[in-house]
Amino acid sequence: MTETPAAHRSSPRTSRRLALRRRALRKHFQFYSKCKNWALAQNVSVSPISWRREHWVLASVAVALTVIVGMVMPTWANAMRRDEAPSVTTLSLALPALSADQTMAGDRALADLAAAGMVPGMESAEWKVVIVRAGQSLADIFHEQGLSPTELQRLVDANVDNGAFRRIHPGDEFAFRKSADGRLAALRFDRDDHTRVVLHIDAGVVKSEIAERALERRFHVARGTIKSSLFEAGDTAGMTDSMTLKLAQAFGYDIDFAQDLRVGDSFTVIYNDVYREGERLRDGDIIGATFINGGRRFTALRFEDADGTVSFYSEDGRPLKTSFLRTPVEFTRISSRFSAGRMHPVLGKMRAHKGVDYAAPTGTPIYAAGDAKVEFRGVKNGFGNVVILQHGGQYSTVYGHMSRFAAGLSAGQRVRQGQLIGYVGSTGLATGPHLHYEFRLNGQHRDPLSVTLPKPEPLPATELAKFKQLTQPMLAQLKRYEDPRLALAR
Ligand SMILES: [Zn+2]
Repeated sequence: MTETPAAHRSSPRTSRRLALRRRALRKHFQFYSKCKNWALAQNVSVSPISWRREHWVLASVAVALTVIVGMVMPTWANAMRRDEAPSVTTLSLALPALSADQTMAGDRALADLAAAGMVPGMESAEWKVVIVRAGQSLADIFHEQGLSPTELQRLVDANVDNGAFRRIHPGDEFAFRKSADGRLAALRFDRDDHTRVVLHIDAGVVKSEIAERALERRFHVARGTIKSSLFEAGDTAGMTDSMTLKLAQAFGYDIDFAQDLRVGDSFTVIYNDVYREGERLRDGDIIGATFINGGRRFTALRFEDADGTVSFYSEDGRPLKTSFLRTPVEFTRISSRFSAGRMHPVLGKMRAHKGVDYAAPTGTPIYAAGDAKVEFRGVKNGFGNVVILQHGGQYSTVYGHMSRFAAGLSAGQRVRQGQLIGYVGSTGLATGPHLHYEFRLNGQHRDPLSVTLPKPEPLPATELAKFKQLTQPMLAQLKRYEDPRLALAR
């Protein structure tokens, strides 16, 4: 982020943006706090590269790329922004200087919009802007603004716009306009990213005015080389931390960023940001990326399949995500491995250990290793509190010694990969808090640490053809940018 919070602290828009960012960070906190420490052990001296020149080169190729993306792949662009109906992909090209007349006309138009309260940051003085704080209700806000509960009730009763204004979240922006006698004359709020609603109260009658605010996606290309950490490289390449996180998540099934990152690893990303009325609103999506890790090249291409599910695929159309997580818990150490015979710590007898024990503090979350149906949830002698998941016909996984189950988890229920199912504990026959994890194929126990995890099905032939057609131009661009000499030769 290039914003300077100190300079804008007073602006409600900035505080809203910060609130949104905080919310996003909170949402990803677990992952974020883990990987913000991803750094390389050695301290490599940073060579004084002429970033100024490189920035110019990047900027100009970014503009060129944007044009190509816009021209070559309108289908792709359409597929990528189905969530925002009125959005338009525009190009960040330099505009010719305006003549004095045009500027004045433009200013007048802007002033008209501002008067209507449609231009953020240019509200006319009558609007009082309020940002919703955590735990606040609409009644609280009305009270704070010196408005009576009757005035709130009138808006509720009118039920215009299906009462959308009542669904409030911390960080939302409301604006109030009062009449000369101090009563509510108008209430303004954003129903979603791109819809602004103004409720006018005139002689007790409520009328709504809805304005679509154009959203656009601006495409960027970023290329980075790891010198000290992934986040430092992302930052240097002009990416926000949350976009870098998206990059890490896209490749997270193939690259272990905590252990396998190397100095000199590099990435190339094509992504977009969402802009509203010329103002950057939020991060968009990664469209395609390559990551070179220890000399191995990985590709992630975003594609929406026939079911409407968006995920990342390798260039040959294989999903990047695996059917199973290798480890369903964040463990501190492996306290017992899979073996044919070991001395049981509680029973004091030789016993086969048919799973892996992951030591972790009591209460550590345990996640479903794959999409599954809950086959069993309850107490089974030595296992204590145990969950057994059935994944399709062949595979099942077992999670033992839980301190408690995830709220609402019940037998027969479907769970998604990565969904919380319970917490580490030491119920049953256990000497300390750990997860006992088993992986079974056709009823046979397999070592979860070494078993070959099945890959999800590749795209069916018809979809594969569509995938290739859509991703080909993106792939060509990525390849070009991976080699800076080629990029310059264009
Ligand atoms: Zn065990």
